[in-house]
Amino acid sequence: MQNSNESILVHICCSVDSHHFLTELRALYPNARLVGYFYNPNIHPYEEYQLRLLDVARSCAMLGVELIDESYDVTTWLCATEGQEDAPEKGERCGICFSMRLGKSAQKAKELGIAHITTTLLTSPLKPQAELFALGEAIASDSGLCFVALDCRSNGGTQKQQNRAKQDRLYRQNYCGCFYALQSQRERAGKNPSEMFCPIAQSRYLEYPIHQRIATYTRRIELEREKIPYHLYKKQQSFYYPFFTRLTDSKQNLLPCYTLTHSLSLSRQPLRKQKIQICMLHNDIGYTDKQAMFITLSTFNALCHTRYASIAQLLFAPPPLSREIAVRRAIEDIDYGLSLILVVQEFALHQSFTLSHYALLQEETIESLLLLGAQDSHKDSGNF
Ligand code: SF4
Repeated sequence: MQNSNESILVHICCSVDSHHFLTELRALYPNARLVGYFYNPNIHPYEEYQLRLLDVARSCAMLGVELIDESYDVTTWLCATEGQEDAPEKGERCGICFSMRLGKSAQKAKELGIAHITTTLLTSPLKPQAELFALGEAIASDSGLCFVALDCRSNGGTQKQQNRAKQDRLYRQNYCGCFYALQSQRERAGKNPSEMFCPIAQSRYLEYPIHQRIATYTRRIELEREKIPYHLYKKQQSFYYPFFTRLTDSKQNLLPCYTLTHSLSLSRQPLRKQKIQICMLHNDIGYTDKQAMFITLSTFNALCHTRYASIAQLLFAPPPLSREIAVRRAIEDIDYGLSLILVVQEFALHQSFTLSHYALLQEETIESLLLLGAQDSHKDSGNF
C-alpha cells in the first residue's frame, strides 16, 4: 500500500481468524481505515451464521473496526457449488467458495470507493494460503483493485492467533462452514450433524445446542455491557433429537400420537416398521410385547398437570422438558429410562399397531456461563 491513510475492505470469515488478522493489519497500517465485511453464505445453518456474526461484531467492537453485514444469500452459494457436494475440503468446492466471497468483496469495495481488499481467510492454518494469495491478486486486479497479501501465520503467528482467541474468549466453531464439511467432520467423529436439526415446536429451541449457544453468547455480550464478571466454560450434555413417529392401527389408519421425550427407537433403522400389541393394562399404562408403552392424553395431562385438548396441540406446544421428564419418571419408576412411550387419544387391551419411530440421543459439548457477581456466584446464565 502506497498511502497508509487509505481504506482497506477486509472480508471477514470468523472471529478467531479476524481478531488476529485485524490486530496485525492495524499494527502494519496504523493510519488506514479498516472496513470489515462479513459475507459468508457458505455457513450452514443460518443459526451458525448468526452466531459467528455475533462474535465477529463483538471482536470488531473491541478493536474499533467498523463492520458491514452482507445479506445471507445461501441459495446463490448452493447453486454455485452444485455438483461439488462430495468434494473434499480444500478441493474444488472450496475454490468456488473462496472466489465467490472474494468476488463479492471486490464488488463491495468498488461500490464504496475503496481501492484495497483482503481476507481473514489468509489467517486460517486450515486454508491454502498460496492459493488464496493468487486468487486474491487475480480477483482484485480484474476489478482494478489492490490485494493486501498479509501473512500472519508465519513466525509464530498461528500461536499468537490461538493466544488471542483464548485471551478474548472468542467463539470457536469446530467445522469450516458448509453443510458438506460439517457432515464429513461429524462422520469422522461418529456423530450426527445436530447443528442442522430443528425442533417443530418453538418452545423447544433452547433445548437444541445451536440455540443454547446463541443464547449464551448473546447473554455474554449483555454481561460485558453491564460489566458483570463471568466465566465462560464448556460442558458435556446429552441431547434428545426426535425425528419421526408413524403409528397406524390394524387397518393401516394413521393415528395421531406424541412421543415422550427420551423415547429411543425400537430399531436402529429409521424406516423399519414394527408390529406391536398391547398385552397388559396397569395403572392406565398400556404395556406392549416390545419395550414400548402407551398412555392416553388424559393420563398425560393428569401426570403433567396440563390441559391439552388434542395430540396436535401437544406436538406443537409441548410442556417444558423437565415436566416431561417427570412424567417419564412417574411411568417408568426409574431415573434414566429410555423406553418408547407413546401418548395417544385412546387405546385398548390387545389392540395391535404398526410403528416406525426414529430418535437419537447424542452427547454434545456446549458453552455455558458462570456469573461471578457476589449474589450470582455458582449460577448459570439462566437461559436454560
Ligand atoms: S469446506 Fe469451507 S471453504 Fe470449503 S466449501 Fe465448505 S465452507 Fe467453503
